[in-house]
Amino acid sequence: MSNPNAYQELADRHREIALLGSTQAVLGWDQETQMPSAAVENRAAQLGQLTRITHKMQTDPAIGDLLAGLTDSAKDDTQACNIHHWQKAWDRATRVPEDLAVALSEASSVAMAAWQQARADDTFDDFAPHLETLVSLKRREAEAIGWADSGEAWDALAEEFDPGMTAASVTAVFTPLRDALVALQAEIPKSKPSTARGLEGLPAVKQTDFLKGLMTRMGFSFESGVMATSTHPFCTSLGDGDVRMTMRHDEASLLTALGSSMHECGHALYEQGLPSAFSGQPRGSYNGLSIHESQSRLWENHVGRSRAFWHWYTAEIAREFGLDGLDADTLFADVNRSQAGLIRVEADQATYDLHIMVRFELERALLNGDLKPRDLPDAWNAHYRDYLGITPDNNANGCLQDIHWSMGAMGYFPTYTLGNLYAAQFFAAAKRALPDLEDQIGSGEFTPLLTWLREQIHLKGRLLSPGELCVDVTGEPLSAEPMLNHLRQLHGVA
Ligand code: ZN
Repeated sequence: MSNPNAYQELADRHREIALLGSTQAVLGWDQETQMPSAAVENRAAQLGQLTRITHKMQTDPAIGDLLAGLTDSAKDDTQACNIHHWQKAWDRATRVPEDLAVALSEASSVAMAAWQQARADDTFDDFAPHLETLVSLKRREAEAIGWADSGEAWDALAEEFDPGMTAASVTAVFTPLRDALVALQAEIPKSKPSTARGLEGLPAVKQTDFLKGLMTRMGFSFESGVMATSTHPFCTSLGDGDVRMTMRHDEASLLTALGSSMHECGHALYEQGLPSAFSGQPRGSYNGLSIHESQSRLWENHVGRSRAFWHWYTAEIAREFGLDGLDADTLFADVNRSQAGLIRVEADQATYDLHIMVRFELERALLNGDLKPRDLPDAWNAHYRDYLGITPDNNANGCLQDIHWSMGAMGYFPTYTLGNLYAAQFFAAAKRALPDLEDQIGSGEFTPLLTWLREQIHLKGRLLSPGELCVDVTGEPLSAEPMLNHLRQLHGVA
């Protein structure tokens, strides 16, 4: 039945749901940065309680009635955007039966512990039964959610991470990219061992202060953000006006801390740039994980690993730490060394995406039943041989290296590569729009770039789909070419 107040009532209910979500994020932030270890169980109970309340609110039949009562068409783009995403969230939340949701949550918490142990002991067989359980539950979850006739189970799971991403759309981009990256590996001149000396063993506290200075220069606002330190750097939003990020300290070399700090700061700048007028609404939210990742990779790789950046930053480092004899070209070469390795998180820009393709193909095969969980190590090793030319020496350095599948996160990995591709395509568009960009980066001036990112991407929130946003910003659909051009240029390959 038509209800003239339906839109406003939906907005109010979703505002409440968003407030609970950001409250959970506060507890999560505290858990990662401050919480004493004796509080683990109590914190899990607190988070569990909030999850139950949130789920109840999300699946309240009144929301279904209100959505059905929206007979008038949306008044503007913002309403259309919000209604579209509220409907999708409702469908998703109500299609998965509660017993399945509980089974998934329990299976993944047990599987995560089993994975940790199996990785430490390099005993895949101990993890295999958990993976079997998870794959079959995820398959049931996908069936409950559903997918388009032309699609497959993977699509239903991936939709949660990047709206509109399907196995077919990912394959269309990945297939040519894989061939080009495999060919590129053979063409990149073999890296010499690192010659960058003098950035090891710098005092941790001084590193942190120095990097905070860089984050400020990049545009991070301490009025609406906090920076702390943690072992695994991350970024999280606690609601409007409150973005938290962490950096590592006590690193063997400043270079590692620098890369991860610029990465997390890229995520944080995106969150700080979302339109606060639409806080708590889809219109004011980030546009899926691929676009989120594009913002971190753009700062980490296209700014922080550029020659221009190193010509400016080498002098800054030398001055701050009183170091003599640092050479910008040597440091630039060092942060861009390329070498196929076994570990995804240590991979360079030219090999990273091959690691992602292996995972995408294998999780797709697991979900489709084309690969049995027990056969994963052999399939994994064969893919590494084909794509990266190396074979893992054990499963800990092979199929047990990532936490994602043990958490039940299937359909997630491609967002990293799509993030890389969007980053390259956005950065190429930024260079066209800002002809002095390189000079600006070369003098530590980042405001024009951030202003452009704010206008082109951040302020649009979720108004467009990721694919539409790409066309809107760059004039072209997503393609592998800008990233391949970037890599060829970086490594001096024709
Ligand atoms: Zn990231």
